Amino acid sequence: MADAEQRLIPVRNPRTGAVDFQLKVSPPEEVAAKAARLRANQKAWAARTTAERVAVMRRWLEAVSRKAQALAEADAVDTGGCHTSYLQGFITMGNIGGWIEDAEAALDRALYEGPSRSMPTVEVRSQLVPYPLVGIISPWNAPMMLALLDAVPALFAGSAVLLKPSEVTPRFVEPLFETVAEVPELAAVFDHVMGDGRTGQDLIANADLVCFTGSVPTGRKVAVACAERLIPCFLELGGKDPAIVTASADLDRAATSVLRGAVHATGQVCFSVERIYVDASAHDDFVALLVEKAGKVRLNSDDPRAGHLHPFTFAPQAEIVASHVADAVAKGARVLTGGQVETIGGGLYMRPTVIVDVAHDMTIMRDETFGPILPVMRYQTIDEAVALANDTAFGLTASVIAGSEEEALPIARRVNAGAVFIQDTFLTFGKNRTVGTHSFGWSGLGGSRTGPESILRFVRRKALMTQHGPVADILDDHHLGKPGQPGGAKR
Ligand code: NAP
Repeated sequence: MADAEQRLIPVRNPRTGAVDFQLKVSPPEEVAAKAARLRANQKAWAARTTAERVAVMRRWLEAVSRKAQALAEADAVDTGGCHTSYLQGFITMGNIGGWIEDAEAALDRALYEGPSRSMPTVEVRSQLVPYPLVGIISPWNAPMMLALLDAVPALFAGSAVLLKPSEVTPRFVEPLFETVAEVPELAAVFDHVMGDGRTGQDLIANADLVCFTGSVPTGRKVAVACAERLIPCFLELGGKDPAIVTASADLDRAATSVLRGAVHATGQVCFSVERIYVDASAHDDFVALLVEKAGKVRLNSDDPRAGHLHPFTFAPQAEIVASHVADAVAKGARVLTGGQVETIGGGLYMRPTVIVDVAHDMTIMRDETFGPILPVMRYQTIDEAVALANDTAFGLTASVIAGSEEEALPIARRVNAGAVFIQDTFLTFGKNRTVGTHSFGWSGLGGSRTGPESILRFVRRKALMTQHGPVADILDDHHLGKPGQPGGAKR
């Protein structure tokens, strides 16, 4: 297709508000052609041993480390200058480096060779067969990290990967794929297409498995499209994550931790703290500390590297956050700090927004806000705190801050969430290579994205079964089901 005919999407710079980037949309035939190329090349990639793939990925790691600075800068322009953006090079290196260490053992552990326990004359060998083409659809928050979180283990598993990043934050893609181009064996099986939801649907139409990170409404559309094709999809969706602070907690520590957990990256993090429940006896002191600490948080409007909060990455998000605040105020809540969208140099900002006198009939306590909000509600008993925390359609993460771990742990065990952080917030990266987690409710669907089993999402487990004993005779079928006979219970 000629350039003139190619659909272009204008991209807004979150700091200046100006459209300073244009994205060329991949037409459906380009998506199909890239998918076909990757699918053809995947055969050789899958035929390599895991150790050989690790060696290729090690060279990619070197290319990423040489370009870490440029990757961080591009991600920071995309987001508006989030702290995490400046760490993106290192985060990506950690993701690749982690799987370099873990991939072989994680895949080997899934293999079995030996007698069948239910049919002892049968020998079973397992084989791991990677899904040929994994489609990744990623969101605009933490754009590079979330584009790669599933892509990297899929590549180690032997799949090819076609990525569609969000149209809102596409600037990191070019430097990222420059690093991929430095490793031809990887470039053969890892590519990207650009565009909006339509391109996302084109990607689904060509993939064998889809990993989606984004909102619940889009997640539903993705799940339906994958169901139509009967292909697996893994959904990592939104959250409305609660924090519980008990009467005996160190309130200064609790306020410090909750503030960061709620406003880091301007609250545009899936596992941001979005609801805070505090014992009634500690409520006023906690709120006073929160207000004091919130007052020290600075916007990064003058210098992206200097302040603490960056502009809204996606302009419509500012309106959503403002509408949640307005709904709360209309229903009787009081805004103690922040709460206003401020336009500075074309960027849209909001300061940490402490809100009290909130209740569960307010949107701000029910829907994902994705902004720097701290709605605080008092509770009388732990049972009430747990009930409030669990009164949600979501269940991504939660936090419990108490006087001691012993006090917090039983509370944490009762909260419905894929990960509960104890005596702190925002510990999600701690689980990445360690344990698997499944989100509750609308926050996710499918196998764990973290821990060793994350990589196993990308392989089909096949069984090769040899009969070493006599074959069963149809004429003798009445023995089936008797102890000691093929198909029967073990004695
Ligand atoms: P989104 O609007 O759902 O978009 C996610 C991706 O889906 C984007 O690439 C988007 O493309 C694409 N898309 C849109 N419509 C589509 C369709 N009909 N079919 C296929 N793909 C389609 O989410 P977002 O606003 O970018 O991201 C914020 C959300 O992600 C929040 O809800 C946040 O909680 C969630 N999130 C979850 C996690 C997690 O791990 N659980 C992590 C981070 C973020 P365009 O952007 O180009 O339209």
